[in-house]
Order: sequence, then structure tokens, then C-alpha cells
Amino acid sequence: MKNNPNPKGHVIVLPYPAQGHINPLLQFSKLLVRKGLKVTFATTPYTINLIHEPTVSVEPISDGYDEGGFNHAPSLESYIESYRSVGSKTLSELIMKLRHSCAVNCIVYDSMLTWALDVAKQFGIYGAVFLTNAASVCCIYWEMKLGNLVFPLEKWVLPISFPGLPTPLGVSDLPSFVARPDDHKAYLDAIMGIFQTLENNDWVLCNTFQELETQALDGKWPVIPVGPMVPSAYLHQPSSDDTAYGATLWNPISSKSYMTWLGTKPPRSVVYVSFGSMATTTAKQAKEIATGLKASEKKFIWVVKESWDILPEGFISGLDDAGLVVTWCNQLEVLAHPAIGCFVTHCGWNSVLEALSIGVPMVTVAQWSDQPTNAKLVEVVWGVGTRAHKDSDGVLSGKELEKCIREVLDGGKSEDLKRSASKWSESAARALSVGGTSDKNISEFVKILISGKG
Ligand code: UDP
Repeated sequence: MKNNPNPKGHVIVLPYPAQGHINPLLQFSKLLVRKGLKVTFATTPYTINLIHEPTVSVEPISDGYDEGGFNHAPSLESYIESYRSVGSKTLSELIMKLRHSCAVNCIVYDSMLTWALDVAKQFGIYGAVFLTNAASVCCIYWEMKLGNLVFPLEKWVLPISFPGLPTPLGVSDLPSFVARPDDHKAYLDAIMGIFQTLENNDWVLCNTFQELETQALDGKWPVIPVGPMVPSAYLHQPSSDDTAYGATLWNPISSKSYMTWLGTKPPRSVVYVSFGSMATTTAKQAKEIATGLKASEKKFIWVVKESWDILPEGFISGLDDAGLVVTWCNQLEVLAHPAIGCFVTHCGWNSVLEALSIGVPMVTVAQWSDQPTNAKLVEVVWGVGTRAHKDSDGVLSGKELEKCIREVLDGGKSEDLKRSASKWSESAARALSVGGTSDKNISEFVKILISGKG
């Protein structure tokens, strides 16, 4: 389906320029185009050439760091501030430019870019925030905005409890921005900015689905589930031509020899290890992972996007057929390969939704941000994974990793994990199939845009 040249509704979709934000927002854009809207995907000059999605138009918007993006900013605070001032101006210019061809009547913006709502209001068009976290995580921020969290959290007298999450919840199960607010002030301020203005949006869209987070979506706050934002070929529609997000920001993949290698392995026998696009692995941690993988005696694919100097000496040359180390891969393709039986993940929300949608059980190795809470949901609420405990220095030992991999692949729990994973995978597919909960929500959104103001 091509971007509708003559539609009644025209949406600008504005992602935060990071892999874990561009993927779901680009996927959402594709779904809107399929339902009849015109979509202009506005992203930074630094990321624009990495978007390869023919169904949406792509336009530049400046964050003030056109050359090197976020990496050239002196701090997160200054990056967010720069994007706010330069971005507001260039977004307004873009809206004015598009008036001549096809007027924009809505901005769907990433939750890190709250200023986009002010631009929408200025132009009298709709504004919709797109939350890229789990609804259960967002509920915690919502409670925080309402003043219902008492700090410091360690002194809390009652068990900490939130909709959809097990009670009691440990402080370490909360998003790190909430558990350790002083360590992450810029992120927390940005997130609180969203929740302070949440009700000013015409829509609050969330990358989740009703059946997955029923309690967190219980109507106490104004949220509409539209996910999971995973290309439809991975949602029980193997014949679909929607097989990729359409953007790769990190080490574009030149060879997919890992897929050929996977093809030589038995079903559900290989461990896939990846900690997403942002987390970094120290040499000490890499050594433990290498030890754990070897001791598990399972074949593996391990994404190491840092310099391979962090790996133990002789590790790569001694691998033989035991496993592959890659700098980056097409994660969706790897997860969907029948040979994959276990995903060792940092629990970024996209990775969790991908594993749930495809039906792959997980070993959770959360690091920061929303990941600890996602890990809790994966293990305790959805029963699709097992948590790898770190030592007091925050390092995951090889022994612990070996134990968890064995538990997922051949321990007593493995059948239950597989059953739950396949149940959630069917549920995810239903949510986005015609008439499913998320599909209906998206259709309703599109209907209003086609008939509404702007
Ligand atoms: N990803 C990928 N190849 C890799 C590692 C990650 O394509 O080797 C993709 C993955 O499919 C996901 C995104 O990068 O869509 C990472 O997002 P997530 O929310 O899981 O983690 P973040 O990178 O934001 O920490």
C-alpha cells in the first residue's frame, strides 16, 4: 500500500531518534497508511537516511545536532532542550510547508518530545502522545504524578502496589528513574513532563494490547492500547509482506550468514543473547556471559555491538560451531527462526513485545529504565521467562546465566514457559487482526482524523 496521495487525514509522526523509539512509531505509521491516512514521518537529519519505508513520506526535523545527533550533545539535558527549541521551530515550518500540498491535521509524537503538543495546539490540530513503555510502567509514572508515591521509597510502610503488577513490589522492580530518581534526573523530568500534560492530549496511545495489561488499562487514566507494534509477518501472518520495521540505525546488516547457520540447528535449541541498542556490556560482564554460554553447552548467537576487545582472549577463534558473535542482526528474523528456543534479553520494551509476539521464552537481565519492571511482568505476570539474578556488584555470573538458560530450554519449567509464550503470541496476533482490540482502537482513531478538525 502506497502513502495515500489524496487523503482526508494527514498525520505527522514524530519519533525520538533512537532505535527503540523509531521502530514502534514507524510501525504505527505503516498501520495508519494501510487504514487510509497520509503519514509524514519527521525525524532528524542524522537518522533520516536510515529509514527505508516506501509507504510513508519522510521529512527532516532538526534537533540542533544535524551532524552527529545525540552523541554530539554535551548532556541529555542540553539535547532535550535543544530538540525542544530547534525542533518546535522546524516542526512548525514543516506543517506550514505541507499546507500547500496536503494539510496536516494531527501530530503523533513520541512521549519524550512533549513540546510537540504545544505546536499542535498552536496550529489548532490534533495532538496524540505515543507511549513507548508498557502500560503497567506508565501507571507507576501516573501514580507519581498524582503524588501517590512516597519518597524515599525504602521508607515506604505499606507494600508497594500498582495495577497489573505483583504485590509487594520491591523498590528494585520499579523503573530505575523512580527507584533512584537522583541518578536519572533528566530522564525523570522528561517523563514527568509527559504525565503532567497527559490529559491535554486528544489521544494517549500506548504500545501494548488490552489482553496483555488489562488491569493497567482499567480506565483510571486516559490510555488507548494500539500494540503490539511488531511487523505483521511476525504476528501469525507469515504470508504478509510486512517483514521489517523499515529502519536500522545501528551497523546496518550486510550479511545474514547467521540465518544460514541457524538453518543447520534443531528446533528450539539455540540461545539468542542481545541487550538492545543502548545498553553497554563491560569486559567483566562479557567474560561471565562467555563462561555461562559455554557451560550451558547450548548453541548461541550473541550480539556484541561494542568493540569485540571486551570478549575474553581467544573466545572468537575458539568458537568453532558452538556459537556466533555478531555486531547487530535483524532481531525479528532471528527470534522467529524455529531454531531459537531462548532469548537472553535486557528487557527493552520492544524486545519483550517481539519475544511475546513471536512466542520465545526469555531469560531476563534487566539493566535500567523500565527494564526491571518489564522483567517482573515477564517472569511473574505473564510466565514467559525466568529472571537472572545479578551479584551485589550488578554483574550476572556465568553460573547464574547457565542455570537460567538450562531452566528455559530443558528444566522442569520449560514446558510451561513454552505454553505461556505461545498463548501470548496468539493473543498478540488477535489484538491486531481485523476487529481485534488494538485494530479497533486504531480504526476509531483513523475514522476521527478522516472526518474531524484540522
Ligand atoms: N534490535 C535489532 N537487532 C539487534 C538488537 C536489537 O534489530 O541486534 C532491535 C530490536 O528488534 C528492537 C530494538 O532494536 O526493536 C531495541 O529496542 P528495545 O526497546 O528492545 O531496547 P533499547 O534499544 O531501546 O534499549
